[in-house]
Amino acid sequence: MTTVTAARYYGPKDVRIEDIAQQECGPLQVRVKIAFCGVCGSDLHEYLGGPILTPQFGHAHPHTGLRLPVTLGHEMSGTVVEVGSAVTTVAVGQQCAVNPSVDDRHHGLEQCRPCSLGKPNLCKRWACYGLSALGGGLSDEIVVHSASIVPVPSSIPLSVSALCEPLAVACHMIRVSEFQPGDSVLILGAGPIGLAILLLLKVQGVGQVFVSEISPLRSEKAKHFGADAVINPAQKVQGNDRDVVVGFVHGQTDGGVDITFDATGIQATLDTAIAATRAGGTIFNVAIHDKPLQIDPNAFTLMEKKYMGGLCYTSEDFATVVEALASGKLRAEEMITAIVPLSDVIGGAFEELISNKDRHIKILVRPQ
Ligand SMILES: [Zn+2]
Repeated sequence: MTTVTAARYYGPKDVRIEDIAQQECGPLQVRVKIAFCGVCGSDLHEYLGGPILTPQFGHAHPHTGLRLPVTLGHEMSGTVVEVGSAVTTVAVGQQCAVNPSVDDRHHGLEQCRPCSLGKPNLCKRWACYGLSALGGGLSDEIVVHSASIVPVPSSIPLSVSALCEPLAVACHMIRVSEFQPGDSVLILGAGPIGLAILLLLKVQGVGQVFVSEISPLRSEKAKHFGADAVINPAQKVQGNDRDVVVGFVHGQTDGGVDITFDATGIQATLDTAIAATRAGGTIFNVAIHDKPLQIDPNAFTLMEKKYMGGLCYTSEDFATVVEALASGKLRAEEMITAIVPLSDVIGGAFEELISNKDRHIKILVRPQ
């Protein structure tokens, strides 16, 4: 029996490196030898307090039938090593990223309404490789539907190709926000997604771009990635209770920024976002909230502001990211702060991201 090594999730703080049977490559499927796989916030949420997106204890996932344990990892790059008999779109040897989103195409079902509207990221039967569909990137290889393959030119290093997924998230948020070149933008939080949004906005011709961030290390990164100013929201001006970020933004713009991306997701950042965005502007939520927040609808009615959110990406977003990387304009390699072997994924990636969050943007895992 041929086996592959994989990091499998059994429950909170229980991820095991195991040798498991190699998966068959079906007629519409493609086998990818994994080069790199990033570890992200949702993996950490599973690790610390799951199962959340992974199948629940004792239950099969409603759309894929998958049960625990599951192989983790959904930010992967690699090389195609086998294609199914009915695959015509991908050839062996192709370097690629994987769009891990699973929708009706993967299930072989008729498209639901969101899928038919070109929004497979909102599919009624949505699942994700590395969380709720069979196979993940924290493994020697993965077998995916041919529609999941994102071809990447060999001029882009495979390490950088593993960043396509988090960059596609950022790309999707910017696209859905209806950002236009020249728009002024405020980003609340310089974590991995906030920084990815900043990098992509610079490529797409943002006007003034400000970042709000408390951590000195992350603030440095935001400056390095091209923010016009990084404001520490914890800094108080003496004798003035006004939000320092809102005060700064209003001093630099005519009535606020065109778009604010909230990549933090607490009451304080929501309040800042609403106050720092101009009349008719957009407050765009990219954070996942642990609990509901308070909102005054008058803030939207009286100033015609919009509040929006976005989820994941579609193949268009991956294509935009690959094009930007290939053009050399998107200098994403600086997002990689460590590369560790699969055997060290727990200490070197999960625990490291928990203990030294500030020091990292993206840790990549390299199977071998
Ligand atoms: Zn669907």
